[in-house]
Amino acid sequence: MRATTIHAPGDIRFEEVPDPRIELPTDAIVKVVAGCICGSDLWPYRGENDVTAGATIGHECVGVVEEVGADVRETKVGDFVIVPFCHCDNTCAHCRAGVQSACVNLGMTQSGQGEYARVAQADGSLVATDGMPDERLIPSLLALTDVMATGWHAAVAAGVQPGHTAVVVGDGAVGLSGVLAAAQMGAERVIAMSRHEPRQEIARAFGATDIVAERGKEGEARIADLTDGIGADAVLECVGTDAAMRTAFTVARPGSTVGFVGVPHGVELPVGRMFQKNVGLAGGMAPVRRYLPDLLERVLSGAIDPGRVFDLTLPMAESAEGYRAMDERRAIKVLLQP
Ligand SMILES: [Zn+2]
Repeated sequence: MRATTIHAPGDIRFEEVPDPRIELPTDAIVKVVAGCICGSDLWPYRGENDVTAGATIGHECVGVVEEVGADVRETKVGDFVIVPFCHCDNTCAHCRAGVQSACVNLGMTQSGQGEYARVAQADGSLVATDGMPDERLIPSLLALTDVMATGWHAAVAAGVQPGHTAVVVGDGAVGLSGVLAAAQMGAERVIAMSRHEPRQEIARAFGATDIVAERGKEGEARIADLTDGIGADAVLECVGTDAAMRTAFTVARPGSTVGFVGVPHGVELPVGRMFQKNVGLAGGMAPVRRYLPDLLERVLSGAIDPGRVFDLTLPMAESAEGYRAMDERRAIKVLLQP
């Protein structure tokens, strides 16, 4: 098959690689209908994570089941499925506790920007739609494989409740999804931190009531003003840098929780402030499968349209341009079609 690979920082190719195959009887192979580039794919692209030269890249896709292993019972060839980026059996002790992202049989989508992807634990992981979905729904279904579920997890971890004032740090696709999640959970005010006009527009469409364009100390002061000096009832940290985490803890009111879903890079926690203000930290890698049935229902009913985060669609063969566009912030999120 052909798939997107990374050879070195900045070196993305679309080339021939071995077809993924059934390796365990619980596996399935999915023919990718749409894949996309994740903000976290930019870490290796920018050389901030190690790169295995020639490895496939891409962990977000939806598609049609092409083949299933001998022990797969629920998943059928021909099903249109949403593939959570982290695969799980959905039956082990950690899955039953709602932490499917720490499943004892954890797997990851490895070639979501290619023509086919292997899914471990097909029955536990995959959620099928009732027949082929309307093409217009595909971006929103694709968003459920990672970004929307990750933004949702940030809001759950932060403990967003009806009537709350929530602050979202980060205006990437996950941050914007976090705005949508907080609004869906009934937050009365959702303050989105964003400097970029097109992102501010989506944040507003997703339910942001206030936009703070300033960053760092100025942004923190603006949020203090907006909350009468009290701070936010819930904070969603959707970046993963030390600066973002610092802002999150600074704007969190005493007794609140920071929900973090940005992959941490060089973060040092302000434990002194956490202790003095009783501010907690919760979250981590999103247990996507836990939220999928509910989020699918919300997409199908039209309650949410998380596919709005895609502002550029390219043929998969042009994935390198997709990476450039996201790296240079010309695009929020890029959808790739085989
Ligand atoms: Zn499990």
